[in-house]
Amino acid sequence: MLPLRIKLKLSPPAAMALWTPTSMIDTHTHIFSQEFDADRPQVVERAVRAGVSAMLLPNEDAGSLGRLQRTVADYPAVCHALVGLHPTSVGADYPDQLDRIFSATAGIDRPVGIGEIGLDLYWDASAIGLQTEALEVQLSMAAERGLPVSVHCRDAMEPMLEVLGRFGRGRLRGVMHCFSGTEADAARIVALQPDFLFGVGGVLTFRKSTQPGVVAALGLDRIVLETDAPYLAPVPMRGRRNEPAFIAHVRDALAAICGCSPDEVDRRTTDNALQMFNLPNSENT
Ligand SMILES: [Zn+2]
Repeated sequence: MLPLRIKLKLSPPAAMALWTPTSMIDTHTHIFSQEFDADRPQVVERAVRAGVSAMLLPNEDAGSLGRLQRTVADYPAVCHALVGLHPTSVGADYPDQLDRIFSATAGIDRPVGIGEIGLDLYWDASAIGLQTEALEVQLSMAAERGLPVSVHCRDAMEPMLEVLGRFGRGRLRGVMHCFSGTEADAARIVALQPDFLFGVGGVLTFRKSTQPGVVAALGLDRIVLETDAPYLAPVPMRGRRNEPAFIAHVRDALAAICGCSPDEVDRRTTDNALQMFNLPNSENT
């Protein structure tokens, strides 16, 4: 087994001093989607009251970009955009979609990363060719720009490992969002790209989840929190629309699994996210 607890050597920990108690970062949330049109201000307010200090919003496709732009413009102190094309939105027109998404990023003030990108063979395994092309183009952009990525991987671990391996070791950094792999999968990812972290969300709290053993093996140095709202609400909210305020349930489950205090989970996962995404100093915004 490869060592998973290698200390990350990322860009300057500019934000280390920013951490305050009960500061959590939701590193993957879609609060710009229409599921939140009726109450987005209240959703953001509940998140901040629950201790969420930043929310990272990964784009889905060319059609969602306007909503994303508006949401980060409305809540600049707490919402940050990632731009990218989601694998389930990849079709034959993907070059055109990428043009539209990446030429429009001038309209987004400083995207903090590229996402949501990846492979999803759950719905249609024949999509592998186009999805792989779109993923490689976007990973190349991330490597050239020095940006982290938010990676979606569903029923596609082996082809994902092949793609990550085609880039030089250490050329990529980012988060395997909603990581559903095994401890061995995580070790293989880290061997290929040592600056990768793993996003942990509501699945951790599900009764039959296999994730507790995986995250215990990973250790807090490798983990960031996320909700993937509106999906995958944690227990005891399971089945409801998920929202960033519910992330405290994931944090509490993680504390129990790792045998540490909730404050320690907050501090370490927040430090990981601040360093990975080089988030702006909230005291200056
Ligand atoms: Zn997502």
